[in-house]
Parts: sequence; C-alpha cells; structure tokens
Amino acid sequence: MSDQPARSITVDLSGQVAIVTGASQGLGQTMATELAANGAKVACVARNADKLAETVTAIEDAGGEAAGFSCDVTNRESVDKLVDDVVEKWGKLDILVNNAGITRDNLLPRMTDEEWDDVICTNLRGAFLFARAASRIMMRARSGRIINISSVSGLIGNQGQTNYSASKAGLIGLTRSLSRELAGRKVTVNAVAPGFIATEMTKVLEAKYGDAFRNEIKAKIPAKRMGTPEEVAAAVLFLASPAASYTTGAVLTVDGGMTG
Ligand code: NDP
Repeated sequence: MSDQPARSITVDLSGQVAIVTGASQGLGQTMATELAANGAKVACVARNADKLAETVTAIEDAGGEAAGFSCDVTNRESVDKLVDDVVEKWGKLDILVNNAGITRDNLLPRMTDEEWDDVICTNLRGAFLFARAASRIMMRARSGRIINISSVSGLIGNQGQTNYSASKAGLIGLTRSLSRELAGRKVTVNAVAPGFIATEMTKVLEAKYGDAFRNEIKAKIPAKRMGTPEEVAAAVLFLASPAASYTTGAVLTVDGGMTG
C-alpha cells in the first residue's frame, strides 16, 4: 500500500462557510476542494480570476458549492469588502484559511527592499488583514476556526529565504497571540507548517536546481520524499473540524519528519 493518500480525511463541515486564500492553484486549491468535498461552502480567493474560475468549476462539477473572489490579500479595502460579501452571500463565516503566499528568494546581502517587502506584505500582512476582518465576525458568533499556513522555513530557517522565513515565523507569532485573544470566544487559531510539498512553488526549485534539489530532499527529509497537497489538506480539515475544538495556538507540522 502506498503511504501517499489519493484523498484527504473525511470530516463533517456541512453548512459551514469557509474562505481559502491562494485557492487558484497548489495547496490552496486542494484545501478548497477538500473543504467543499466535506460539505463547506468555499469562497476561493486569489488575484487571477480565470484560474479561480477553474477551481470553482471543478468544485461545482464534483457536487460542491464555491464562489471565486478575485482579490489582492495585501489590500485592506478589498479584504474587508470580500469578507463582508461572503457573509452577505452565505450568512456567516466559520473557517478562514490564510494560505496565499509567495517567495522571492535571495541571499540577504543581495536582497532588495522590494523582495523583502513583497514577501512580508503578502504572507504576513495578508493574513493579518483577513484574520482581523474574520475575527470580528467569529467573536460575535462565538465560534470559528482560523488556520494560518506557515512553513518549516518559519521554524528552522532556510538559506536564501530570510524574508520568507521571517514572514512564516511571524505567522506563528500571530497564531499564538491571536489564539490567546480568541480562545474565550470559542474561536480557535492554529498554524500548519508544511515541509517540501509537490506544487508549482517547489517545481520552480526542482527546475532551477535539478538533481541537487532532489538529493537535498533525500538528505533533509527522514521520510525521503516530498509531501502531497492532500497530506497538508488533511491537517487543515482536522483543524477546521468540530473534533479540533480544544486545539488552539498549535503549530501542526506536515514535513515528513524534517523538524522532528
Ligand atoms: P503556489 O505558488 O502554488 O500558490 C500560491 C497561491 O497564492 C496562488 O493561488 C496565488 O494566486 C495566491 N497569491 C499569491 N499572492 C497573492 C496575493 N497578493 N493576493 C491573493 N492571492 C495571492 O503556492 P503553494 O500552493 O505551493 O503554497 C501555498 C502556501 O503554502 C504558501 O503560503 C506557501 O508559503 C506555503 N507552503 C508551501 C510549501 C510547498 O512546499 N509548496 C511548503 C511550506 C509552505 P494569484 O497569483 O492568482 O494571486
């Protein structure tokens, strides 16, 4: 039997409303698909409207409910309006997955202001804006799940990724502090820290570094392989589910043992 699941886990999210940022491809697309397959209505967020439409069509073709919201997560007005629009459309907001993220790798002495600012702004400010807008709604409802997609880079660092690692470590700080603020209102806030997962983001690295990249995977990951988007989505589904009601402020690694 393969140790890589073709599907994720099964939880009951019927009637729940979710927002997933960065849902036009990669991990976010799989998370959105899996949340919808488990009963949630999913607002899929990204900048590219055409690619979002493909995600939404795939979810609808599989019998799920979804809508695409084209939005730059760094823009406060757009984020606030989007959250309002989702609540107007479906009446509430139960789950927020802050997944949108970018890399602009460079060694620190060569890193430009723009490379630093772009990554911090998308990965950290984007999550802050969505968490702030969502938490206002979830606090009033006395229920909710906020899940921030961090990275092993935020835990152990990575050469050439000072900007990315800082943003992902920042997400863990945001997660832990916000979990303390919201626990009394029955809103949980957790982070998922994936290791190397096979997506467009890692395809770029594989194309650039070839065998060196593949050898590094084998050397650094005790499981000796990259993870799948479904394995990350399984962690998100658990944290989004009623079963995770007493789990808050946690960082769930999905990394094949890299940080173990
Ligand atoms: P991809 O590059 O495949 O997808 C990134 C997604 O984010 C796209 O949907 C993109 O859509 C969206 N996005 C980027 N910038 C913005 C923005 N300003 N506003 C709105 N949406 C935006 O990445 P992955 O699927 O590989 O990664 C997803 C998350 O998981 C990221 O946060 C990443 O850091 C994290 N992660 C990934 C790992 C991996 O190995 N793949 C490992 C650890 C963490 P669009 O361009 O249309 O806006």
